[in-house]
Amino acid sequence: MRINYNWRIMKITSHPVKRIILIGFFLLAGTGFYATAQEFKVGAAVRVITPDPLLPVSGGIGTPKKTTTKKGDLFVRAMVLQKGTTRIAIVGIDNLGWTSALGDRSRALIKGILPQNILIGATHTHSAPDAYGFPDATGRSIADLAYLDWCVKQIADAVNEAAENAEPASLKIAVGEAQGKIAYNYYADNLYDPRCGVIQAIAESGKNKGKVIATLVNYAVHPEVIGSSQGILSPDLCGPLYDRIESKAGGIAIFMNSAQGGMVTADTRLENGKEANTWEECIRIGNLLADEALRIVDNVEPQKEPALFCASREIEFPVESEMMRYILKNSPIKMMSIKENVVTTRLSYLQVGSAKVLTIPGEALPNIGFYIKRNMKTDHAFLFGLTNDAFGYILTKEDFNSFKRYEYVSRTSLGEMTGDIYVNEVMTWLKELSNGSAAKK
Ligand SMILES: [Zn+2]
Repeated sequence: MRINYNWRIMKITSHPVKRIILIGFFLLAGTGFYATAQEFKVGAAVRVITPDPLLPVSGGIGTPKKTTTKKGDLFVRAMVLQKGTTRIAIVGIDNLGWTSALGDRSRALIKGILPQNILIGATHTHSAPDAYGFPDATGRSIADLAYLDWCVKQIADAVNEAAENAEPASLKIAVGEAQGKIAYNYYADNLYDPRCGVIQAIAESGKNKGKVIATLVNYAVHPEVIGSSQGILSPDLCGPLYDRIESKAGGIAIFMNSAQGGMVTADTRLENGKEANTWEECIRIGNLLADEALRIVDNVEPQKEPALFCASREIEFPVESEMMRYILKNSPIKMMSIKENVVTTRLSYLQVGSAKVLTIPGEALPNIGFYIKRNMKTDHAFLFGLTNDAFGYILTKEDFNSFKRYEYVSRTSLGEMTGDIYVNEVMTWLKELSNGSAAKK
């Protein structure tokens, strides 16, 4: 049989035209295999999650406030990156915070991506429906669970669509200082991180070749220009940011917040000592941040076939705060682990081309952000704050209950050791990653 088979090949290839066809076939088969196995691809998709009718909005612990109007729409924005067998989803949702109790329900509905490779971050707009189910003094919550169920499905739909749309892509990656009146620290003007990280995916083939698929902006700021007390539902400054990026660059814009705790906020200061808490101010800041992000990533050499790596590990935090215990215990959204007064959450680490990304399960103060970025040892350090979970402020044990200014952020934190536990875990992990022993954890 074997001899016969070889003879047949000989016979076919003896004809010059047939030989070319055969060689061509093997070449195509070869590149085809390579393409499906190793080609870097990116897809993106969006879902609108504006409630109709409108719902009360939440800007923090306490009873959500009624709304009578909206400015802009709320969104779920998903970007899927894949190379070989590695698939990663990055999701931004216009909400104050999105716990893993909800995120895991979306993860269960997403096909073809490992749950731990799906990063879901909240933009931290202070004008979106309550997703924590904050209980009042009697233990009751007015959170709309049907709305949250619907959002869970929209997240899964957006990720599934982004995965289906994934096409060959290159990446432009840059980090630079965003200039202009965008953010400041409300507690101490200059204590904030002006760096803005940008990851932009560009189609490499087909009818979209050269077009932008998605632009991810990573920047630390509280989207609380409008806040929760004006009767307005809004994505805040993130809405105009999406619009501006999409109208100038095309594709889909995603915003991932960063270490914006205590108290890095939008610079709405006016000369008369007042603040501009208007939709027009959201447009001004959103447009400016968008323009700066596009400037930072402009003229950057695209990275062809960038490497893609994703790792994760669980971390536990004791819940020392009585108020946080009360919320975690009484919320209709089951957030607490089986163990008493402990929350477990997942940290994610990504390497996408030259970018390194770490997630923060809450609102880290900017000093923690600087320290982590510095120890990531790259010019392209990204921190996705309020991602995978959002358990309030994360401050160092030295800052906890120190300055009078920090009373609020201390009260709205899991406890004195939260920052220490997070930083130590991340430092250990970064060491393991640099010596190659971390992937299994
Ligand atoms: Zn906050």
